[in-house]
Amino acid sequence: MKAMVLNRISSLREYEAPLELVDFPKPVPGKRELLIKVSVCGVCHTELDEIEGRTPPPFFPIILGHQIIGRVEEAGTNISTFKVGDRVGIAWIHSACGKCKHCIEGNDNLCEKFEATGRDTHGGYAEYTTISEDYAFTIPKIFSDQEAAPLLCAGTIGYRSLRLTNMKDGDILGLVGFGASAHLVIQMAKHKHPNSKIFVFARSEGEREFARELGAAWAGDIGENPPEKLNCAIDTTPAWKPIVEALKNLAPGGRLVINAIRKEDIDKDQLLKISYPVHLWHEKEIKSVANESHQDVSEFLELAAAIPIRPEVQV
Ligand SMILES: [Zn+2]
Ligand SMILES: [Zn+2]
Repeated sequence: MKAMVLNRISSLREYEAPLELVDFPKPVPGKRELLIKVSVCGVCHTELDEIEGRTPPPFFPIILGHQIIGRVEEAGTNISTFKVGDRVGIAWIHSACGKCKHCIEGNDNLCEKFEATGRDTHGGYAEYTTISEDYAFTIPKIFSDQEAAPLLCAGTIGYRSLRLTNMKDGDILGLVGFGASAHLVIQMAKHKHPNSKIFVFARSEGEREFARELGAAWAGDIGENPPEKLNCAIDTTPAWKPIVEALKNLAPGGRLVINAIRKEDIDKDQLLKISYPVHLWHEKEIKSVANESHQDVSEFLELAAAIPIRPEVQV
């Protein structure tokens, strides 16, 4: 089969085209696995972290890509849920042990044996891939393949981030950075919390304009002061300055959720600007978001169809 593979860790500043188109052995589904013919695969910022080695794959060559839509081409033995021809989605969570405390409590995203699609196993930039039937998701009919792909990481991780903010209706939410995930979060936050105001912080005027179109009550640059303090905030940027700014803008008892698998080191010196009374006092909290659980993906796909969320996609 044809596949785009990553052969080694490299800096994108020095090497702009790290993926290579090759002929690669077609995978064979194991017990309780499905062989999927891929129709689309979404592109995620996390792949830059994989390519540059901030969250490196354990082997090479590897096929990246973790927002996959396809059809079941072949079912391995003991498959009960899916049949040949069914449309399925594959998300960032590829597998977990199923036995540890985290898995039993529904937090398989925190499992020590957590494996990510397109990092720890081959992903979707290929004609075929395989997945355990436990981690294949049925996609609501209202979404086209292209629309559904970004729901599997950008959308689901946004859903988990929003959940971790503990936001209540009427709370003010800040979205710091406005890309793939945040433009879906604003749609779910407005649906779940109709009496809340959402303030968006983004570097480009185009993103701020898009945020206003999607219902942001205010949109400004990172570093600008919002009209009111934030009860909760979600950061989706790769940098540190937005964290320092968001902590400053939090109301007493506010929580900042960092939705980023890794931060880049370029502006790490910004952290020295943290002043205890300005950025942390009054019980302000910081929480990171790690991966996504099986439950997050299923719940979010249902919510996305009910709203319905409309991802903006470029093919
Ligand atoms: Zn992703
Ligand atoms: Zn586990």
